[in-house]
Amino acid sequence: MDRTKELLLSLAAPPSHRCYLCEEEEVLGEDGLCDACRRALKLAISPAPPEGLDGLSAGLQYCDELGTIFYRFKKMERRDYTPFLAQFISIPEEWHAELLLPVPLHWWREYRRTYNQSFLLSEYVSSRYGIPICRDLLVRTRPTPQQKKLPGKQRRRNLKGAFRAAPECQGRSIVLIDDVVTTGSTLSECARTLKKAGAYRVYAACVACTER
Ligand SMILES: [Zn+2]
Repeated sequence: MDRTKELLLSLAAPPSHRCYLCEEEEVLGEDGLCDACRRALKLAISPAPPEGLDGLSAGLQYCDELGTIFYRFKKMERRDYTPFLAQFISIPEEWHAELLLPVPLHWWREYRRTYNQSFLLSEYVSSRYGIPICRDLLVRTRPTPQQKKLPGKQRRRNLKGAFRAAPECQGRSIVLIDDVVTTGSTLSECARTLKKAGAYRVYAACVACTER
C-alpha cells in the first residue's frame, strides 16, 4: 500500500473512532465501518451518466443510512466525514482528467453553511490522484431551489443560466465532484455550461447515486 493511501485510511478510521454509519459499534474495518453497516451499503455498478456528461462514477448506491450521513455532513458541520466519504469517489484512468471542479454552491449558501462539501471531498480526491482543483471554472450566479423538490419540467428551467463558466475551461477534460447524484439535472446544467464555453470533456465523480 502506498503512503498516501495509508494516510487516507488512517484518517478515515482512527483507532478509537466509532462506525461512521451507526456511530455505535467500535469494531471497524479499514473503511471506518462496522461489519453490519458494511453489509448494508451497496456498491453502485456503472450508473448511466446524466445528459450532457461524458461519464459518471459513483461508489455507492444511495440508501437511507447514507442519507443520514449526508445530512450530518452537509447540514450539521460534520466535516470529519470527509475522508470516509471521499474514499468512495473514483476517477477512471481513461478519462484523462486534467482538472477537478467541485460543484459550486451559491456564495450566500456557502457563507451560511461555512463550507462547500464538494470542495472538501475534492481536496482528498486531488491528493489521491494528483489532479489539481480549479474552483473558478464555474460560478453559481444565483441561488436555486433544491432540484429534487421540483417536478421534472421545472428542473431545467430552475437551473437555466444558474452557472457561468470561465474561459480557462477551453479544451480541458474536467471532472465535477459532488456528494450525491439524484436527478442529475445540476450536473447536466454544469456540463452544458462548461461545454458551451469550450470544455473538451466533462465527467462527474460522486460518492453515491440514486438508482438510475
Ligand atoms: Zn455500524
